[in-house]
Amino acid sequence: MHVLVINSGSSSIKYQLLDTDNESVLISGLIERIGDAQGDLINKAFPGTDNEVVTEIEQPIPDHTTGMRLAIDMITDPAKGAIKDKSEIGAIGHRVVHGGEDFHEPTIIDTEVIAAIEANVPLAPLHNPANLDGIHVAMELFPGIPQVAVFDTAFHQTIPPHAYMYALPYELYEKDRVRRYGFHGTSHKFVAGECANLLGKPLAECNLITVHLGNGCSMTAIENGKSVDTSLGMTPLEGLVMGTRSGDVDPAIHTFLARNKGMDIEAIDAMLNKQSGLKGMCGMNDMRDIHAAADKGNKNAQLALDVQTYRNRKYIGAYMAVLGHVDAIVFTAGIGENDAIVRRLSLKGLAGFGVKIDEAANDQRAKEPLKISANNSTVAVWVIPTNEELAIARQTRAILDT
Ligand code: ADP
Repeated sequence: MHVLVINSGSSSIKYQLLDTDNESVLISGLIERIGDAQGDLINKAFPGTDNEVVTEIEQPIPDHTTGMRLAIDMITDPAKGAIKDKSEIGAIGHRVVHGGEDFHEPTIIDTEVIAAIEANVPLAPLHNPANLDGIHVAMELFPGIPQVAVFDTAFHQTIPPHAYMYALPYELYEKDRVRRYGFHGTSHKFVAGECANLLGKPLAECNLITVHLGNGCSMTAIENGKSVDTSLGMTPLEGLVMGTRSGDVDPAIHTFLARNKGMDIEAIDAMLNKQSGLKGMCGMNDMRDIHAAADKGNKNAQLALDVQTYRNRKYIGAYMAVLGHVDAIVFTAGIGENDAIVRRLSLKGLAGFGVKIDEAANDQRAKEPLKISANNSTVAVWVIPTNEELAIARQTRAILDT
């Protein structure tokens, strides 16, 4: 079956057409700067193979409908050879950021599901409207083709109340649904499944700590295959130090900034989401730039690296305490998959807890899963590339097969 995966953002759309029979990627595309004077589309047919055809278009892309129409032209272009007609697409899988407490698993989209995603807009005011734009456009352009929503929050719906509640007045939970939801669920679930295969055990018997370090960063404690705690919270701001997001801060800092710096709520929100994290500490948010600067003696770059990896270590320790027994720690996403130094520093000092790294293995680069723990480590440590599009395609197909 051909599954089209759509990840619709506020000014961008990522799309991928996969053949779920052999899990190959036929088309991979990115549309950016929707609504700007000039928009971009980059489309790759058969990416990463000898038959790769790359097409780039620069033109105004006023809205998501125009963007998706361009994408359909690319996908069905006979010269590219992926498919001839959009009717060859069996299903469409949409990434949806916030499913609140309504969605524990992927769901076929109908008017009730759309209403529920809309009802969760207050919890993700930037993301859910953009995801809904993608859904509406796809329903218009692909009538009759089943559409499935795959939620970033769904995997974390197994987190128990003692881990999802904030110690705030209870009615904030009851009336306003203020609680931890967690994000990156599709990625955490995907690498957990891959890790279970590598360990040769059913996922339902695995205790894992999955560490997703990309632009956004999060960590999940997985007990017997289920998420029992995760570092992102009601919004994707809590927890680890991210590219531009602060992660954990004393909540009283908000009040301090308002009282003493005259900052309003919008300015504080923008600062915590866009001008903090690695970027806030050293002016850079790409880990490769940060290493290069730290190597040249840039003290703030070194500090940013130290603060991020110390926070990772602290959370790994916390989740080891949560789980009691850990089969494996899994690193994934841009930094987690590529950055041996971050992995080493994030695991520093954990030998007493049975976590020992094989330095030579850790220094290797691989596109395939890589075991980086030493033979005498009681906790296995793996680097496993995440693949959210494949995970969404698999889940979309699975729900239609049932
Ligand atoms: P997103 O959260 O946007 O999906 P990714 O998972 O692609 O992000 O991660 C992007 C980040 O990964 C970059 O900002 C960069 O910091 C980091 N990264 C990518 N490649 C490398 C590398 N070779 N070494 C260190 N960090 C890397």
